[in-house]
Amino acid sequence: MRALMKTEKGVGHFHVCDIPKPKLKSAGEVLIKVSAAGVCGTDVHIYHDKFQNYPPVVLGHEFSGVVEEVGADVTRFKPGDRVVGEPHTLFCGKCDVCRAGKIQLCANKRSPGWGIDGAFTDYLTMPELFLHNIPDNVGDMVAALAEPMAIVTHEVLERGKVDPQDTIAVIGAGPIGLLAAVAAKAGGAGRTIVLGTDVDEAMRFPAARNLGVDHIVNVQREDAYAFVMDLTRGRGADMVVEASGSEPGINTAIDIVKKCGRITAVGMPGKDKVAVQWLKMINKVLDVCFNLSSSVSSWDRALGIMSATEFDLTNVITHYANIEDWEAVFDDIAKGKAIKAMFVPGAARR
Ligand SMILES: [Zn+2]
Ligand SMILES: [Zn+2]
Repeated sequence: MRALMKTEKGVGHFHVCDIPKPKLKSAGEVLIKVSAAGVCGTDVHIYHDKFQNYPPVVLGHEFSGVVEEVGADVTRFKPGDRVVGEPHTLFCGKCDVCRAGKIQLCANKRSPGWGIDGAFTDYLTMPELFLHNIPDNVGDMVAALAEPMAIVTHEVLERGKVDPQDTIAVIGAGPIGLLAAVAAKAGGAGRTIVLGTDVDEAMRFPAARNLGVDHIVNVQREDAYAFVMDLTRGRGADMVVEASGSEPGINTAIDIVKKCGRITAVGMPGKDKVAVQWLKMINKVLDVCFNLSSSVSSWDRALGIMSATEFDLTNVITHYANIEDWEAVFDDIAKGKAIKAMFVPGAARR
């Protein structure tokens, strides 16, 4: 089968290779035929060697698929089941974070797509314990958004917490920002505001409108602080989801959040040190919540939101591509001409 792989360490080294179809390695594993696999910012970082990777490895950690074969010990899944999988493979089970149930933070973890073979191909194997059934009314393409949806569900709802009728501002209009706005609404937010820049005008802002975002602010054209203060009668947003990872974005979050409000940090800065308005954070008595990855509990909750939402989540997906066209897809992502790109086995070539 054909697979998009990182073949060696360093910048680049992405190649489509021929590899054998994987076999079950243990009685607790499931063989999954990939339906769709999403391209994530992490994959871009792996290309540039700015995220850990263990080549040669098949890329792709966000996927949906159909169970083809199950090991002898598998009890919860059978061939034909549609599934998604948590990327928390190879957690140790012994360290403090594992024993606290936070296996996603285990230093030993090696996810499909960078630590072990992932989903930018036709088949992958996963331990049964990570799998979740896809609700009947969630299509295969949308289901492949389950991993980013679980991340925002964990970060915005489980850790950030939305109270009924809150005004939630989301900084950054990428896939995570858009899904965060959907999660906030599902969690009871009264109003959502997405803040972005000129590059978001063509694709991301229209998608945000179709996903039920109440207000959209282009911070390059409009004063974000004045807009949010006007909307909230001078109070500020109850919670700000910082999904840009940029220094201006982080400081805008501090500016527009209300006194005693909450910032939930989702975006990854591209550098170790960020200059923030620390004193303003003290004077506003802010709660800031940092986040990484998804929790076990967030997956079924995320799938529930995906099943129940009145909004069409395909608005987030701009590409249904063949892995052979990966260079064009990554080029579109780099140029801001994509929101979420999916690799779909058997998709037509460009
Ligand atoms: Zn991802
Ligand atoms: Zn551990």
